[in-house]
Amino acid sequence: MGKRKIYVVGNWKMHKTSRDAVDYIEKLLPHVKETENLICLAVPFTSIALASEKAEGTRIAIGAQNMHDATEGAFTGEIAGPMLKEAGASFVLLGHSERRHIFQETNEWIHRKVHRALQEGILPVLCIGETLEERLEGQTEEVLKKQLVTALEGVSESQAEHLIVAYEPVWAIGTGKAATPLIAEEVHLFCRSVLSELFGKKIGGGVSILYGGSVSPQNVAGFIKEKNIDGVLVGGASLNLATFVQLIELCKK
Ligand code: PEP
Repeated sequence: MGKRKIYVVGNWKMHKTSRDAVDYIEKLLPHVKETENLICLAVPFTSIALASEKAEGTRIAIGAQNMHDATEGAFTGEIAGPMLKEAGASFVLLGHSERRHIFQETNEWIHRKVHRALQEGILPVLCIGETLEERLEGQTEEVLKKQLVTALEGVSESQAEHLIVAYEPVWAIGTGKAATPLIAEEVHLFCRSVLSELFGKKIGGGVSILYGGSVSPQNVAGFIKEKNIDGVLVGGASLNLATFVQLIELCKK
């Protein structure tokens, strides 16, 4: 088996103009030349085109934070897969907890989005996670299984090879209270078993599963050393270039 590749994904949320993005990427490039890991930035829609141009042919992949399931139509304020593709997005975050909870995205809608992204050739990063109440009531596995099974219904084995899952407990996002590596590893193992049920052990078991939720330079090494954690999805700590570079460095080990 080759050396395991680790994803380090930044989610900028609604931060940074396209000028900021270009400046950030220019300064980030010298730090990622040597990395074997996969560095991804989910930037605001308006930055995708310029950011992709700047990152072309480098170790950095540019993606979006959301996408509609239709290819076009009367959906004011929404964005479609072909538009993202044309702008240069190679991946898209789907089902982020802020989309689920602030914008009421359902598992069924996320399911349609996953299929659309796969059809467009944009790699979906399917975000799943339980709320604090659900965890306290012992419903974590049930909730995650439903999110996975509903979103991935009808996805073929060959499509599942072009899919990433991000476990992001809602209680850990933006709170400074990350899960412990042990909790995350336990959940990742569970998600891997669900993915294996869906797509077989080889393909399902091979899907990369990232951890997200208050990842910082102080805690990242603990997550990366776990067997079933294939990388990190980083919100707040990706906004500061020096901190993101530090995370990339720590993930090399
Ligand atoms: C996120 O937005 O996906 C996230 C994990 O945020 P943070 O790292 O700020 O908790």
